[in-house]
Amino acid sequence: MLQQIKTVTVIGSGTMGNGICHVFAQGGYNVHMMDINQAALDRAIGTIGKNMDRQVTKGSLTEADKAAALGRIATYTDLATAVKDADLIIEAATENIDLKMKIFQDLDKLAPENAILATNTSSISITRIASYTRRPTKVIGMHFMNPVPVMKLVEIINGYATDAKVTELIYDLSKQLGKVPCVVNDYPGFIANRILMPMINEAILSLQEGVAGVEEIDTIMKLGMAHPMGPLQLADFIGLDTCLAILNVLYTGFGNQKYAPASLLINMVQAGYLGAKSGEGFYKYTPGSKELVVSDRLASKQWKM
Ligand code: NAD
Repeated sequence: MLQQIKTVTVIGSGTMGNGICHVFAQGGYNVHMMDINQAALDRAIGTIGKNMDRQVTKGSLTEADKAAALGRIATYTDLATAVKDADLIIEAATENIDLKMKIFQDLDKLAPENAILATNTSSISITRIASYTRRPTKVIGMHFMNPVPVMKLVEIINGYATDAKVTELIYDLSKQLGKVPCVVNDYPGFIANRILMPMINEAILSLQEGVAGVEEIDTIMKLGMAHPMGPLQLADFIGLDTCLAILNVLYTGFGNQKYAPASLLINMVQAGYLGAKSGEGFYKYTPGSKELVVSDRLASKQWKM
C-alpha cells in the first residue's frame, strides 16, 4: 500500500466502478463505493464477491484474503459522506459530460483539499473536467480497462495542468496494484480509444454496407489478426451507447469526418440494443450461456443499406 493513499472513494458502481473497488480492496486500501442507486451498489457487492470466488477457485486468492478485502468495502449513496476522508477519488459514473461536470464541482467542494481527483472516463477531456474544479493540478485520468480485475493496463492521462508529482503517484499506485501503467497526453480518445473506436466503427460500417456478416467480420479479425475477440463482440461488451459517446467525442474533438459514427450504430443505440448489458446488440445474450448467437435482426439482413 502506498503511504500517502489509504482511503479510496469510487464514484459509480457499474461495470467499471465495481472492478476498480475490487482491485483496491484486494490491494489493502479502504474503499468507499458510492452510487446514487442503492440497487447498483447491492449488485456491485454481489459481482465483486462472485469475481473473488472465481479467484479463490483458481488459487490466486485465499478465502481469508477474500473476506478481508470484502470487509474493506463500505457503500454510500451520499457523496459528502463517501468522500470526506478520501485521499484519492476515482470517478467512474456514466460517460456524460454534464454529469461529470456536476460531480467534479461537488467533489471540489466536498473532498479534502489535498485529495487527488481521478476520472476513469474513456474519452472526455481531462483538462475540461479539471476546469470545473479549483484544483486542476490534482486532476488526472486513471483509465482502467474492462474487466478491471483481469486487464493489466492503466492508461494514465495528464490534463494540461496536472502536476508531475500527481502523475508519479498514480503511476506508482497502479504498479503497486499489479497493473502496467502508460502515461499519455490529453487529446480526444487519448490512445486506447483513438485507435480502438475507429476500428469498431469500420467493422460496423462494413456490416452496414453488406461487405460481410457479423460472424465473418469477427472471425476475420480474431483469426487473421490474433485479436482475442472480434470488434463487434467487443463493442457489445463495452456497450454500444458508450462506443457511440466515444466516437462523438472523437468526431467533434478532431472535426474530422473519418470519426463520424456509423448510422447503424446510432440506430441500434436509439432502439435500445446496447450490447451485453441490454441483452442484445450484434449478438443475443442469454444469462448463463456463453454461446454467441447473432442478433435475429442483423442475421435477417433487413438493416443493409
Ligand atoms: P455503467 O453504466 O455500467 O455504470 C455507471 C454507474 O454510474 C451506474 O451505476 C450509475 O447509477 C452511476 N451513476 C450515475 N450518476 C451518478 C452520480 N451522479 N453519482 C454516482 N454514481 C452515478 O458505466 P461503466 O461502463 O461502468 O462506465 C463508467 C465510466 O467508465 C464511463 O466514464 C466510461 O466511459 C468509463 N469506461 C468504461 C469502460 C467499459 O468497457 N464499459 C471501459 C473503460 C472506461
